[in-house]
Amino acid sequence: MPFKQRLDKMSPPPSSAASPDFLPYGRQLIEEDDIAAVVAALRSDWLTTGPRVGEFEAAVCAFTGVQYGVAVSSGTAALHAAMYALGIGPGDEVIVPAMTFAATANCVVYQGGTPVFADVEPDTLLIDPMDVARRITAKTRAIIAVDYAGQPCDYYALRDLAQSHGLALVADACHSLGGSYKGKRVGTLADLTVFSFHPVKHITTGEGGMVVTDNPELAARMRRFRNHGIDTDHRQREASGTWAYQMVGLGYNYRLTDLQAALGTNQLAKLPGWLEKRRVLAAIYDAALAKVAAVRSIVVRPNNEHAYHLYVVRLVDRDMRGRIFAGLRQHSIGANVHYLPVHLHPYYREVFHTVPGLCPNAEAAYDCILTLPLHQGMDEADVDRVVHVLKQELVA
Ligand SMILES: *Cc1c(COP(=O)(O)O)cnc(C)c1O
Repeated sequence: MPFKQRLDKMSPPPSSAASPDFLPYGRQLIEEDDIAAVVAALRSDWLTTGPRVGEFEAAVCAFTGVQYGVAVSSGTAALHAAMYALGIGPGDEVIVPAMTFAATANCVVYQGGTPVFADVEPDTLLIDPMDVARRITAKTRAIIAVDYAGQPCDYYALRDLAQSHGLALVADACHSLGGSYKGKRVGTLADLTVFSFHPVKHITTGEGGMVVTDNPELAARMRRFRNHGIDTDHRQREASGTWAYQMVGLGYNYRLTDLQAALGTNQLAKLPGWLEKRRVLAAIYDAALAKVAAVRSIVVRPNNEHAYHLYVVRLVDRDMRGRIFAGLRQHSIGANVHYLPVHLHPYYREVFHTVPGLCPNAEAAYDCILTLPLHQGMDEADVDRVVHVLKQELVA
C-alpha cells in the first residue's frame, strides 16, 4: 500500500498555555551563566565524549556521595542501562510500582524481561514493601523503587526484601535528586540509582540522565552499554596511541554530549538553593491547603528529606477533578495528573494482559490526584495565586 502522508492539522495548544503568565507544573530555570557554560563547551575541542562529561559525572557523585556515575542521553536510557548492567533478560521479572512514569516499566521490556506491578501505599503513593513481598516469585531478579513526587521510598524495608531474596535494588530517583532517607542521601540507598535531567526535573541538560553506583563492575558495563558495547572510547584510544577496539556486547549510542554536560554541571551548583526554594514553596502550599477541607496533601513520612519534584494533592471528591483541572487551566495554571497507573496503559493491557484491579491503591489514587505547579522559578505570590484560584474553583 502506498505511503499516504497525513495532513491532519495539529490541534492548537490551549489558549491558556500561550498566555505569558501561564504557570506550568514544572519548568527549567536557565540563567546567563548556564548559557555561558554551554557556549564555552561549543568553543572547545570536544562536543561529545570530552572532559565535560566526566566532570559532570564527578560533580553528581560528589553531590550524592556515590563513587561512580555514568551519564547517558536520558533518564530512560539510564533505566535501560541499569537493566542491562544487572543482566535482566527474557524470563526475568522485575517488580515496579504501578504509580510511575511508563519508562520505569518499559526499561524491563527493552531487555526482554517482564515488569510485575506492585501497588503503592495509599497515603504516600510510594511502592508498598508488603505488596512487593507478595509479588516475588522464583523468576524475580530486581525491584525498581520510585521516589514518587520526590519523597524517598521505604528503603530499609526494600533492602531487607532484596537481600533476603537475592534481588538487586534499583532506585528510579528521577523525582528525588537531593532527597534523603533517614539521613542517607538518595544515590546511596540502592545498588543502582537513576536520575533524569529532563527540563521539568530538578536540574536539566535538555535531555539527559545518569546512573550512580558504588559497584565498579556495574559502572563499567554501563559505560560500554552507552557506547555501542565497545570496550574503550575515542579519547582512551588516543591516549594509548591505538586504533584498536572491540565490541564486547550489544550496546547503543546513549552518550550525553559535552554541551549538555556543561549545562548539567552549572545547574548542579545551584541545586542546593533550588531544593530549599522548593521546600519553602511546598510548606506554603501545605499550610494554606491544611485549611481547605476538599483537598488533602500527600502524606510525607518523618525523617525523610523530600526533594519536591512534584506537589500533588488529592481531591476528597474525585468527581470534581476534571472540573478543577479545567478551571485551573482557564486561569493559566498548568495543573497536571501524575500518573495513569502503568498497567492500565493499552500497551501493557495488550501485551502483558494487565487488568484493572491489579493495583487498587494506585488506581483509586489516579482518580483524585492533581499536580499543582512547583518549580524553582516560582515565588510565594505564585503559590498564593494557585491556592486562591483552587479555592475559588472548589466552591464554584
Ligand atoms: C522523567 C522520568 C523518567 C524518564 O526520564 P527521561 O529523562 O524523560 O527519559 C523515568 N522515571 C520517572 C519516574 C520520571 O519521572
